[in-house]
Amino acid sequence: MENNEAILGTVTRGAHVLVLAYPLQGHINPILQFAKRLAFKGLKVTILVPSSISHQAPFQQHKHQSFDLEYIRIFDGYEGKPDERDVNAYLRRVKTSISQSLSELLDHFKKNNQKLDPTPKMVIYDSVMPWVLDVVKKGGLEGAPFFTQSCMVNSIYYHVNQGELKIPITGSNLVSLPAIKSLLKVEDLPSFVTSAGLSYPAAVINMLIDQFSNVKEATCLFVNSLDKLEIEVIKWMEIICPVKTIGPCIPYKYLDNLIPDDMDYGLSLFEPETNDCIQWLNARESGSVVYVSMGSIASVKPDQMNEIASAMLNCNRFFLWVVRTSEENKLPLKFKEDTSEKGLIVNWCPQLEVLAHQAIGCFITHCGWNSTLEAVSLGVPMVGFPQSSDQFTNAKCIEDIWGIGVRVKANEDGFVAKEEIEMCIHEVMEGESAKEIRENANKWKQLAVEGRTSANNIQEFVTKLQCST
Ligand code: UDP
Repeated sequence: MENNEAILGTVTRGAHVLVLAYPLQGHINPILQFAKRLAFKGLKVTILVPSSISHQAPFQQHKHQSFDLEYIRIFDGYEGKPDERDVNAYLRRVKTSISQSLSELLDHFKKNNQKLDPTPKMVIYDSVMPWVLDVVKKGGLEGAPFFTQSCMVNSIYYHVNQGELKIPITGSNLVSLPAIKSLLKVEDLPSFVTSAGLSYPAAVINMLIDQFSNVKEATCLFVNSLDKLEIEVIKWMEIICPVKTIGPCIPYKYLDNLIPDDMDYGLSLFEPETNDCIQWLNARESGSVVYVSMGSIASVKPDQMNEIASAMLNCNRFFLWVVRTSEENKLPLKFKEDTSEKGLIVNWCPQLEVLAHQAIGCFITHCGWNSTLEAVSLGVPMVGFPQSSDQFTNAKCIEDIWGIGVRVKANEDGFVAKEEIEMCIHEVMEGESAKEIRENANKWKQLAVEGRTSANNIQEFVTKLQCST
């Protein structure tokens, strides 16, 4: 137990689950939100916080009246931000360290059985760490992976895992998969499984494909999605494995306000410039602002950054653009100062608050799954500007399946010209399809807020766990 240390006191509840997060912003947000829901429903929930991010986490500030969460720090191989540049080495070290410290923690729980009321029964872990299930089973607990991607993306990785995905090399560009009714183009697939994947470290690809390596041994699979959004593919997945959709995992304030003091995710690895953003937005007219963000990881090429900057300059609208500190040096010289009348550029913003603001007219997004679900839940039309990973598949859904935005057209090098960006902004804000896009966005927003199946799935899971204790 050397490396694990409880940082908050304990609470006593009906059944106890441990929730293990993966240390990336887009992975932490939804699993923490799910943990809050379980705690609100009456489970005792302990979040296992990887040591590489635990120093950044202002946990103690997030006391809620409606539920309690306990936090335990778990050693992931790093104290503070990892300095490792070799991704393969980083992933290996995370696996070895978490496996060992989790195993020690479970032993510790077992030894202190009588002091803990109730003892942990299950570990819910991020699906990109499937090896956690082995440790959990050895410790005599049940395990359930939490998937932070859409069901459509999960099903694609599943087919790859089963050796069932055939990418056409010549001729038709279309891919047909048993789980998905519509045909997908190669450019709609996650970049890890196409030829673009060759440029990624093998360990990253394996990490995604391996998510399905042992799901048959898991109690169930939680997916941060909404059944109505992906009804066909979810039905298909349900035949293969016990999938439970429990999303959208965003704070209740932005859904049905069931827990009014649940206003943010609760763990930000970046410092949001909240006051500057909100004051600036308050001074803008309804639906007038273009919000641009590429999420927490994407690194945009310098010439592409230049092109986005030109589009912002030319589109003659107000814009709020998140450019992370690590990306700032790619902005054209003095761009921030020269455009200060029209735009606000920040290193990080409170995205949910921004998307919920009446001044926002559209969201130019890299289509990360959280950003996509947040925009769906808040009814914001999108310009999909996918960069890598599952973002291409999400962009396909945004444009073609849900009809809540358009997707930029890139040339064969993935470059998107400024005229194309401007055209897409125009299209979603006031073009021919703008009205239909807004209507669809409102429709999906209602369904997300309602989230009936997700609420039922959560309730069913909690009741079952409590009854079996
Ligand atoms: N986000 C934020 N402020 C920003 C940009 C992003 O709070 O300025 C949050 C956003 O709300 C989302 C997460 O960071 O919950 C990004 O996750 P996503 O899956 O969209 O993309 P990733 O960062 O994993 O590529």
